[in-house]
Amino acid sequence: MPAPPGKPTFPLMTTPLIDPFDRAIRYLRVSVTDRCDFRCVYCMSENMEFLPKKDLLTLEELDRMCSAFIRLGVEKLRITGGEPLVRRDILTFFRAMTRHLDSGALKELTLTTNGSQLGKYAADLAAAGVRRINVSLDTLDDRKFADITRWGRLPQVLKGIDAAQAAGLRVKINTVALKGFNEDELFRLQAWCAERDMDLTFIEVMPMGDIGNEDRLGQYWSLRDLRGSLAQSFTLTDLTERSGGPARYVRLEETGQKIGFITPLSHNFCESCNRVRITCTGEIYTCLGQEGHSDLRAPLRASGDDQVLETAIRKAIGLKPKGHDFDYSRQTVDGRVSRHMSHTGG
Ligand code: SAM
Ligand code: SF4
Repeated sequence: MPAPPGKPTFPLMTTPLIDPFDRAIRYLRVSVTDRCDFRCVYCMSENMEFLPKKDLLTLEELDRMCSAFIRLGVEKLRITGGEPLVRRDILTFFRAMTRHLDSGALKELTLTTNGSQLGKYAADLAAAGVRRINVSLDTLDDRKFADITRWGRLPQVLKGIDAAQAAGLRVKINTVALKGFNEDELFRLQAWCAERDMDLTFIEVMPMGDIGNEDRLGQYWSLRDLRGSLAQSFTLTDLTERSGGPARYVRLEETGQKIGFITPLSHNFCESCNRVRITCTGEIYTCLGQEGHSDLRAPLRASGDDQVLETAIRKAIGLKPKGHDFDYSRQTVDGRVSRHMSHTGG
């Protein structure tokens, strides 16, 4: 018998995940690898050491983990990394998740990618039920692209974006706002996205990982300033839609385009946070801006009984903090966390 309108079409067998601050957890971001074919300067050091294979969750373990979260009420699953599409056989995992889309339990299966492998995988991802993807791209200048990604080449990424659009995937571009690097490309990026009917989101650079030689404070380009620049050329209308995450959106009335701002450092978005993150080794981080985490790999591997895993998941959600402590306001990076972004997948 079909479910009545407005009711979930799948039986939620258990009580959903609710954290101590009454936030329901509906969104899971999973890093499937710590490896990448790029070495973006704000994300990785040039000589990154990667984890031994045995530490990573296998594709079967990733399936069990994600399926457990979906049983507990997660409706949106974002696959990330490192670069998710460099994980061997990753399509097998995407195809396995299709069953949760088919059952109606999962509303959205998506990924964040650097775009380098989309030429190869875009059509298969679309066939697996992916509808929208985020592609990270900070510049449209070949030389600057090679500088910022160290190992990446722009033409390959642009071909990947073409392939994604040809496969019917809706593409959103994510651009890290970097002072003195892509400030001068604001309007070029905006116009390029408008021409291709792509939304665009700017991300403030976050104090992640080993700051080392990279002067992140020098790179910090406030999105308030960026928004101010856009407002000089366009009429901006604030959109009320929220993703439960740190993004806020405006519409440029002249182009109809949606522009997002991810400002984890200058605004507090934590009160509506509905997300948790799993690393490729099965650690759960319930807040991107805090060090606190719990291990889910041990309970996953300890028993084939999913009840053990679900108990561990509930316990971890019970520790989700109220919010993060990033603070650039005194020109020091208070609240900085030591791991790299590639570890938690952003
Ligand atoms: N490799 C994929 C990609 O680049 O889209 C997925 C993983 S990457 C860690 C996810 C996002 O984090 C990318 O959009 C990247 O630009 C962003 N990112 C990495 N390091 C960052 C930092 N320190 N501050 C802000 N964003 C960062
Ligand atoms: Fe790789 Fe993405 Fe990190 Fe760049 S931001 S090094 S593409 S994981």
